[in-house]
Amino acid sequence: MSRGQNTQDGGDAPTAPKAPLGAGPEPGVAYLVGAGPGDRGLMTARSLELIAGADAILYDRLIPPGALDGARADAELIYVGKAPGSVAMEQEETERRMVEIAKEGRSVVRLKGGDPFVFGRGGEEAETLAAAGVPFEVVPGVTAGIAASAYAGIPVTHREDASAVAFVTGHEDPDKEESAIDWPALASFPGTLVLYMGVKNLPRISERLIAAGRDPGEPAAAIERGTWPGQRTVVATTETLPAAVADEGLRAPAILLFGAVAARREKIAWLERRPLYGRKVVVTRARAQASSLAARLRGLGAEVVELPAIRIEPRIDSDEVAAMVENLHTYALVCLTSPNGVDLLLRAMAERGLDGRALSNATIAAIGPGTARALRSHGLIPDIVPPKSIAESLVEVLKEVDVAERPVLIARAAEARDVLPEALAERDALVDVVPLYETVRDPAGDGLIDDAADADYVTFTSSSTVRYFLESVGDRFPADARVVSIGPVTSDTARELGLTVAVEATRHDPDGLVEALLADSVQ
Ligand code: SAH
Repeated sequence: MSRGQNTQDGGDAPTAPKAPLGAGPEPGVAYLVGAGPGDRGLMTARSLELIAGADAILYDRLIPPGALDGARADAELIYVGKAPGSVAMEQEETERRMVEIAKEGRSVVRLKGGDPFVFGRGGEEAETLAAAGVPFEVVPGVTAGIAASAYAGIPVTHREDASAVAFVTGHEDPDKEESAIDWPALASFPGTLVLYMGVKNLPRISERLIAAGRDPGEPAAAIERGTWPGQRTVVATTETLPAAVADEGLRAPAILLFGAVAARREKIAWLERRPLYGRKVVVTRARAQASSLAARLRGLGAEVVELPAIRIEPRIDSDEVAAMVENLHTYALVCLTSPNGVDLLLRAMAERGLDGRALSNATIAAIGPGTARALRSHGLIPDIVPPKSIAESLVEVLKEVDVAERPVLIARAAEARDVLPEALAERDALVDVVPLYETVRDPAGDGLIDDAADADYVTFTSSSTVRYFLESVGDRFPADARVVSIGPVTSDTARELGLTVAVEATRHDPDGLVEALLADSVQ
């Protein structure tokens, strides 16, 4: 079975690879999946494909931001993380839920930070699944010890410095009299020591290593929030690391690393040398189109905040939609106004056993090239695509089409302008406006506005992004941010709404915008 190779859709990078049929999760199967250390780009193709298809996802606190973006809208998302000090779902309860969901015949993804079998209790969970007779798969993830080090420019092995590497837990049960860790063995270990969960105990760790014979002057490092925006690294020695970490205020989650390789960071550090390192950039494009711009900015080292956080809520279970699908063959004209509308119409049809043939009597009109593309991706070629991507333009073109006394379907968002239905009704068309979805604010949105507060740049790719963004942030516009606009029309809107435009792209596309922002950032 070949899997998820095909991600070339010509447009923005999709959040999850489009898996060929059958490659997703199986009903009644549990998946122990590593989500990697924090950078979403380090999630495996397999993890994305399982997330995209899962009926239920039990997820931890330290999973990458946006890791669940590709989940199905109707997937059950269950938070089982344990924030320090907060009440959490107990391990047993988590395992019980996982078994229960699988036994109900649903697919369940247990999504864990890093790798599931590296200090992740994945072993216990797999044993529970095996004991319960639930079939399961284990999907490795990039573990923090490797990833944080790599992002810090520290190779965990090196021909000259280290021919072995050990992953060690630095977490000691505070109630234990005896140390669970064999300090003499670690001290004499001929290679790099990578300690997880050790920040709080660092002074004791450093002391014990030295007492057991490790070289106090050997290079050592601590890496906080590896691969996350704002990753921080401190390099010192076995002896001086505790003080250095305390000075910098490094906290969990962090990796501690002891070994000569730590000194290699001086030459190899790459993260901090990228052109937009340390800059926070807000991307205001709607989520569906934002990913490629955001990805480019991240690739240049920027920390990217994606706003507005909007979400599409399908409404295809309504009686109205059911009746519409039933009568689909009677419509003379079907108007679609967005890619979401197309996808949801086809989904509503498929759920009721229909495919594109049900539209064979209708003239199909699509507003916007994205809508037309969505139709083509379902094997339907639109008959009419107006020159401008607005309802008025479609009204104009439809003057050529006889609609009087004929049934017309407008399938679209719940909250849309009435230009099109009114114009068609005036011409005596029998218009059905059927909402297929609502655009709602993502509950994560407010947190993101706080995230954006100290942004260096806010980018606008259209007038509507300016308006939408200002509406959603209200008076919380990032105080010191420079406004970057894609072109003169967007700039005019921004100025009308009281913003000062600092940078305007000379080429009016996302790449041109990135170029302009880069040029501004080096000034
Ligand atoms: N299964 C995970 C580890 C879970 S234990 C993995 O394979 O990575 C939790 C510990 O992992 C934290 O205390 C910290 O030491 C480490 N950790 C997790 N994410 C980290 C990150 N992004 N940067 C540095 N350390 C991290």
